[in-house]
Amino acid sequence: MDSQLAYLLSPQTGKATARLRNYQVQQGSFWGRRSSIAPISGAAGAIALLVATPLTIIASCVALQHFDGSILDMLSMLWLDGIGPFTNRYFPTPTLSSFIAYISWVAFQAALHMAIPGKAHTGQLTPGGNVLQYKINGLRTSIIVVVLFLLSGTAGLLDLSCIARSWPGILLASIIYGYLVSIVTYLKAHLAPSHIKDTRFSGSPIHDFFSGCELNPRWGRDWDIKLFHIGRPGMCGWMMIDISFAALQVQKYGFISNSMIAVLIFHGIYIVDFFWNEDWYLRTIDIHHDHFGFYLAWGSTVWLPVLYSLQAQFLAYNPVHLSSTIFALTLILGLAGYTIFRSANHQKLSVRLMKGNCMVFGQKARVIKSTYKISDGSVHESLLLYSGWWGYARHANYTGDILMAFAFCACCGMSHILPWTYFIYLTLLLINRCFRDEARCREKYGGHWERYCQIVRWRLCPGLF
Ligand code: NDP
Repeated sequence: MDSQLAYLLSPQTGKATARLRNYQVQQGSFWGRRSSIAPISGAAGAIALLVATPLTIIASCVALQHFDGSILDMLSMLWLDGIGPFTNRYFPTPTLSSFIAYISWVAFQAALHMAIPGKAHTGQLTPGGNVLQYKINGLRTSIIVVVLFLLSGTAGLLDLSCIARSWPGILLASIIYGYLVSIVTYLKAHLAPSHIKDTRFSGSPIHDFFSGCELNPRWGRDWDIKLFHIGRPGMCGWMMIDISFAALQVQKYGFISNSMIAVLIFHGIYIVDFFWNEDWYLRTIDIHHDHFGFYLAWGSTVWLPVLYSLQAQFLAYNPVHLSSTIFALTLILGLAGYTIFRSANHQKLSVRLMKGNCMVFGQKARVIKSTYKISDGSVHESLLLYSGWWGYARHANYTGDILMAFAFCACCGMSHILPWTYFIYLTLLLINRCFRDEARCREKYGGHWERYCQIVRWRLCPGLF
């Protein structure tokens, strides 16, 4: 820590947070971090999302539970009833048992994270100059959680459809928990940040609450709050919700539809891939660049498991039978998307880990040697790959993801928009990310990035975008 920063943060100086913010403004923004945002007007987007996201999640539950998944029917009823009576009639009711069950499950995941051994992996150099260690044991702990769930179901100790049957209560429990995590981490950033140089304050408390202040908040040295919440309540929760709604379909209709099987296969591949490659995930924007606020805290505990499992939720109430041709085409499309997604991500990771000395599509990787500065002014080197998938488009990994999302949703047929929410959301998110990420990369790498953009002209798909 440089001496000026040490002085600003020493307890005697008081008001450390305000002083740190001034210090950051003096340093200027770097890597796409805006150093100053107007308190309310600058945070308009954050305010809109703080309101819209919980409403979307609750609306999905109401539409599925009361209107056969029809958003149009739900909105017509809202129009006829008026907000007050509609809310009274359909708003999910919180239950103490669901809340206790949810919190116990998160606590169990936390206990497993501590108890189960895992390899130590390091993340990338942060803007503040930190290289953090992570305990990687998500695959093991998630297998334990999911297998225990399945065994308890087959042994008759619990009903596998219990999550689906208590869905409104569990949904509300996760929403409350997501808010608690967001509030606690916001306060923690002000009172006891883990890595002060990677903590930022924008001047807008609303923006800070939404986007986060700390980059990688931790309890103690190793317990990474961000990685834990994305992986355990997020990805592992998604798997369990899927299983539970599949069980509900079997109980309601006496069969499991081929569309549900396809959804379980796709989601299963995506989730296992995440845990299998958990060390790769340390180098993604979520971990390496995005701060931990409502966006990631509430997003990973609520938005991710609920919205991403919508296809399974929908099919539990509205089974769709896909013809063998559509079934095969959907599987081919989804697997093609997965192949692009995984191989593009793998190419980028290999090039960085092997310092460019690796093969990509059977040829030596072509890279631009780039440099960037971190907050203490020191200069570091990095590589920008421009062969393999990264020679076709600057975000080929997103293209694979979007193809997969299309295949996930196509399993539900075209009759309803609700299960397509994931595809619409992911496409918008990743297009927005293209711009957001490129703005940051331009700031980080300057002329090197410009050169890369001249060589690789397209963002997602050559000739299109
Ligand atoms: P990337 O993994 O593509 O990471 C972007 C970063 O990679 C950049 O900020 C830069 O970081 C580095 N980079 C950019 N171009 C190059 C290049 N040519 N060569 C080497 N490094 C480069 O993006 P994300 O973290 O957003 O996504 C990771 C995966 O996760 C994607 O496949 C995406 O589809 C998926 N995803 C899925 C979501 C979902 O909800 N389902 C949400 C978000 C992502 P640096 O500072 O290291 O140079």
